[in-house]
Amino acid sequence: MADDYYQILGVARTASADEIKKAFRKLARKYHPDVNPGNKSAEEKFKQLNSAFEVLSDERKRKLYDEFGEEAGKLGFDEKKAEQYRAYKAARAAGGGMPYGGGAGADFDLGDILGDIFGRAGAGGVDLGEILGRAGGGRAAGPTAGEDITANLTLSFSEALTGTERSISLQRPGRCGRCQGSGQSGAPTTCATCGGTGKVRRGGGVLGMSVGGTCPTCRGSGRAAPPCPSCHGAGVVDETARLTVKIPAGVQTGSKVRLSGQGAAGSRGGPSGDLYIETIVSEHPLVRREGDDLHMDLPVTVSEAMLGAEIRVPTFQGEVTVKVPAGSQSGRRMRLKGRGSPSLKGGAPGDLYLTLQVKVPEQPSAEARQAAEALARAYQTDVRGSLQL
Ligand SMILES: [Zn+2]
Ligand SMILES: [Zn+2]
Repeated sequence: MADDYYQILGVARTASADEIKKAFRKLARKYHPDVNPGNKSAEEKFKQLNSAFEVLSDERKRKLYDEFGEEAGKLGFDEKKAEQYRAYKAARAAGGGMPYGGGAGADFDLGDILGDIFGRAGAGGVDLGEILGRAGGGRAAGPTAGEDITANLTLSFSEALTGTERSISLQRPGRCGRCQGSGQSGAPTTCATCGGTGKVRRGGGVLGMSVGGTCPTCRGSGRAAPPCPSCHGAGVVDETARLTVKIPAGVQTGSKVRLSGQGAAGSRGGPSGDLYIETIVSEHPLVRREGDDLHMDLPVTVSEAMLGAEIRVPTFQGEVTVKVPAGSQSGRRMRLKGRGSPSLKGGAPGDLYLTLQVKVPEQPSAEARQAAEALARAYQTDVRGSLQL
């Protein structure tokens, strides 16, 4: 179970954007790897803070998160920003020092640096992604499989029993149409990052540190096509997908229907993830479900219960005739075999249980009163005779 983003930041679900920002800044200062060198739990906490803030600081993502939970974050996943942060960390791992500033011993404002990581620096702020790109610490360029996505779908009680077809629309990372997911635009030419050598080795410069190794742009081949201008090389862009979903009969709250390959598109040609539709089934005012069995109260008159009767009862498979045995007491349970929910696993359907509820007339006439008095004399034993506590 992932932790709740609001809990991670220690704010209420109603917190304002300002409160969220303040809470994040305070905690990020406390748990930043620079002030907790080698502390794994602080590092983990810092990661969680970033994930939480990434979502809760964005009005659109926060709304999705409130509605759909953590999975929604993946629907609106900001690949570019995540890459900047990854690149920032990679550069840190490679270079040791802060990615910019005056080098060892420099006096830096952590708040400003955090601002830059998330692209929130004020006017004249530094674009961290740009700097790292120039230093050769750019993005990893291999194909990556798309994430699985889970979306919730609310159904009525009877739709869940009969099955249904629904049109849904969801936001997901989709294959970029401009580059067909390759992330590249045009024919490969000599790689601009490494000048065709396939290797990068730079010292000094804007970062004041040395980063070397295989060229990240061409992955060592020395040739690369320019990145696609629509998706900035990711091969993936946000899209709104409209899908028809077939919900089988017998689903319950928490059932998952899998749509293979309908999750997030993989980046740079990687395979797509799957889409899981998790069903939420509304309560029914009269019928309760337990597994595949259904339970319902069945109102009967005094004479139907006393003398027996054949009565018509609605079920989800249409009306049926039910024989109420003579002398039935209120609370008597009757079973209609196979009139419950279809089995999602393909087994026998559940049963429908009826619990008799004897109803007396609400406004008895003089005649009804006389009949009731006559009935009272008909009991051979004290009805509460066995009621001994
Ligand atoms: Zn593209
Ligand atoms: Zn290159």
